[in-house]
Amino acid sequence: MENIFNNTEVAFALKSDTELDRAYFLFKMIDNQPLVRIGTAVTNFAIKAHLPVEGLIRATVFDHFCGGVNEVDCLSVVDKMFTKGVSSVLDYSVEGKEEEEQFDAALEMTLKTIEFAKEREAIPFAVFKPTGFGRFELYEKIGAKQAFTDSEQAEWDKVIARFDLVCQQAHDKDVALLIDAEESWMQDAADDLVTKMMQKYNTEKPIVFNTLQMYRWDRLDYLKKLQEKAKQEGFFIGMKLVRGAYMEKENTRAEEMGYSSPICDSKEATDQNYDTAVLYMMEHLDRMALFAGTHNEASSYKLMEFLEKKAIAKNDHRVWFGQLYGMSDNISYNLAANGYNDAKYLPFGPVRDVMPYLIRRAEENTSVAGQTSRELAMIKAERKRRKGK
Ligand SMILES: Cc1cc2nc3c(=O)[nH]c(=O)nc-3n(C[C@H](O)[C@H](O)[C@H](O)COP(=O)(O)OP(=O)(O)OC[C@H]3O[C@@H](n4cnc5c(N)ncnc54)[C@H](O)[C@@H]3O)c2cc1C
Repeated sequence: MENIFNNTEVAFALKSDTELDRAYFLFKMIDNQPLVRIGTAVTNFAIKAHLPVEGLIRATVFDHFCGGVNEVDCLSVVDKMFTKGVSSVLDYSVEGKEEEEQFDAALEMTLKTIEFAKEREAIPFAVFKPTGFGRFELYEKIGAKQAFTDSEQAEWDKVIARFDLVCQQAHDKDVALLIDAEESWMQDAADDLVTKMMQKYNTEKPIVFNTLQMYRWDRLDYLKKLQEKAKQEGFFIGMKLVRGAYMEKENTRAEEMGYSSPICDSKEATDQNYDTAVLYMMEHLDRMALFAGTHNEASSYKLMEFLEKKAIAKNDHRVWFGQLYGMSDNISYNLAANGYNDAKYLPFGPVRDVMPYLIRRAEENTSVAGQTSRELAMIKAERKRRKGK
């Protein structure tokens, strides 16, 4: 397949020279692992101590990785990206909350983004995180097959009601709804709930999408079983495929608690698992829709190849590529320019509340873990190209 991802002119067409310089500076900093460690610790402390660091965070990492502090802020970014054919998924990225009030706020925000999506072609999906709608411990207890107390049961009933309300709204407004995946020890409860929503709301087409983290070796089997169930019962499957963002946490917990890790043995095994799942979904598109959430170029090429081989249109409405805002623009913009469906997660929320999200981004982009060298090489190439003009 022709290499399309190295076209930096397309990748950075929306970035001014100053913005390009800022991105370069940022990735240079993130590339330095000790600096990220120290930066993370200092920032966490400063936020907890209510030091006035929000301005600094906003001007650096926040503006690079987020669309704004609220959903309305994001709209100018949404419109701008859509001029190049790249769509947006508004992602309310407030994490780690434990209060009913905050769960209700996340529910309201998700409903609002469904409304936004209904009104705008540039926003084809809404999204939420299971633990945004209920306490982590409740999911965990179900996963561990522990009984609820009466008050926990009442809390869980509210979680079910929140899931049901957003899925019903998504269905009624005909907006596809992505549901993120999190740690394996809470995920069984979320999976069961999402499957119920698919059974209820995906009877005509895929509206509710679950997420499979393909760094888990058991997920391909899970997908195949779900496909059998869907076939028997006559519902559609919406699925986001990602590799997974909690690898270290998963391995550490498994080791500490003495069970075998749910994570594949190697990066290669994860890569293969991911691509096999993509192929499986392409072979069952009659009943499925795929959102391929990845920054991996090889996996993106494979999916492009599968589409070509199976004579599926590049812009088939059942196949989407997705990246995170602030990362892998070379993939997003070149896919869109070549006629594929592409959407970027656009996180938003108050600066201090999106810090866990930002820290995950900084950590996954350090020189040890991430693809920062590729980001830097791309930016460098584009700066050179512009200077040479
Ligand atoms: C649009 C979008 C939505 C997302 N939604 C979710 C979500 O709901 N839940 C979630 O968990 N993540 C989510 N992610 C994050 C995603 O999991 C990370 O982007 C991903 O971890 C990075 O993988 P990659 O496919 O971009 O490719 P790469 O950068 O090629 O792969 C890196 C990944 O490979 C895996 N890996 C690395 N080393 C090893 C090893 N030694 N053994 C086994 N596996 C290894 C890890 O998963 C690691 O993160 C989302 C990402 C995108 C772009």
